[in-house]
Amino acid sequence: MSRLGRYLNPISRLGHRKYSVVFPFGFTLFVAATSEFIISNLLRNPNLVGAYGIILFLILIIYFAFRDGIRGGLTATLATLSYYSYIILTRPTTPEEKFNQWETTLMLATAYVTLSIIIGWLKQTVDYLIEREANERRRLQAIMQQLPVGVVVTDSKGKVVLGNKYMNTILGREMARDVVVGRDNHPKATHNGKPVSPTQWPLAQTLATGKSVNGKEYIIQREDGRDVYLNISASLIHNQRGEVIAAATILHDITQLKELEKRKDDFVNIASHELKTPITSMKLYLELLSRQLKQSGDKEAQKTLKSIRYQSDRLQELVSDLLDVSRLQTGKLAFSKQTFKLNDLVIETVDQLKGAAKNQNLIIKNSTPMMVNADRFRIYQVLTNLITNAIKYSGPNTDIIIKLKKEADKAVVCVQDHGIGIDKAHLRKVFDRLYQVSDSKEQTFPGFGMGLYISKEIVKRHQGQIWVESEKGKGSTFYFSLPLEK
Ligand code: ADP
Repeated sequence: MSRLGRYLNPISRLGHRKYSVVFPFGFTLFVAATSEFIISNLLRNPNLVGAYGIILFLILIIYFAFRDGIRGGLTATLATLSYYSYIILTRPTTPEEKFNQWETTLMLATAYVTLSIIIGWLKQTVDYLIEREANERRRLQAIMQQLPVGVVVTDSKGKVVLGNKYMNTILGREMARDVVVGRDNHPKATHNGKPVSPTQWPLAQTLATGKSVNGKEYIIQREDGRDVYLNISASLIHNQRGEVIAAATILHDITQLKELEKRKDDFVNIASHELKTPITSMKLYLELLSRQLKQSGDKEAQKTLKSIRYQSDRLQELVSDLLDVSRLQTGKLAFSKQTFKLNDLVIETVDQLKGAAKNQNLIIKNSTPMMVNADRFRIYQVLTNLITNAIKYSGPNTDIIIKLKKEADKAVVCVQDHGIGIDKAHLRKVFDRLYQVSDSKEQTFPGFGMGLYISKEIVKRHQGQIWVESEKGKGSTFYFSLPLEK
């Protein structure tokens, strides 16, 4: 029944460009046959007959022009005119009356044709516009479906309205329909090693807070046992009036990248382990050689050996940094904590590093004694790294100030230099793994960009913070804080 209703209703057929001819023609003829019965049996008044014949067929022509476009209107007009001609030819009238009847029919024909063309054209234009809009939507959907990244779009309430094909590839199954984000049926996943609840997914967070989420890494545990690494971003979509109309998320499968990274980390780990042993023996032999040369009194050879020992020390530092980085990556960097006085460690470290300074003044501004519970060697490593950087990146005869201060329940160490400083663009990245400020005009220094990364990770794992303030050309101040031991 509803199918018949949709077939007959011109409104529900909007945008439907299949126009029929048979139905308008057949139906108009059927109405004509019925009219023939009504006219000859029920209507006696000739004026009524005329009005009936005009109004009824006018309605039919408008209906078919609206339902089937110009073609439908003209078909109904043709059927109507055929019926009018039949009446004129079969009714017994005088030639004069006949002439008048033909004249009226011609006028009506002109009006019907004009009406059919105008209404039919309007209908066809509306259909064309609706179809164009639908095609555009289909095209966008096809693009979205075939994108090589996962895309999920929800309405403003979080109900999923679109999940593209790649989502199925990511999930390893058909994506569930009618899901409400933040509520039901989310895949099992972890973020930073912790399980993710439905409200913690980027799309749910964006919907709840209104803020975009950029490039967060998640690992989903698929039902087939495979782990998939994803980089997920999400944001709200607004209309021109600024109202939220939808939310969208993009999921990049970075599993291959992660596997590659893991292989690289494994390589660095193995390489640094393998390098450690020969370097240690090399240093022992150098020690032995140094003692022998001292006895021989050969000054030139002693000078050469000193250079070799300096370089082997550098090599050992690099390998040890590499090992630390790989241990950090694999979570194998162990800490052995003890309670000690941070002030003493600062003095000790500065004393040891005085030899490395290029006439720079290392000034300690100590404060009240502060006890911390930390891995003494690792904190020494952080301090050494910050102070050697300060020495490395500032000119001779400048002051390097190492300050210790108490802030609430934290001990804060600052290392301030008056060196080359760091450009704003690099400030946030200097703590990233293997990040080095590359400036064509800048003097380059040996290093791998591992020191600050290792320092950041060590401080972080002591529940502390590390940060930097710097101005290009004026110098930098690096800070790190550690919780005070109560
Ligand atoms: P590197 O071994 O290259 O020194 P780090 O991780 O210690 O590696 O430092 C990363 C980058 O940060 C360095 O390459 C340098 O450009 C910049 N940097 C670090 N400390 C300072 C400083 N005190 N002054 C200016 N730039 C610095």
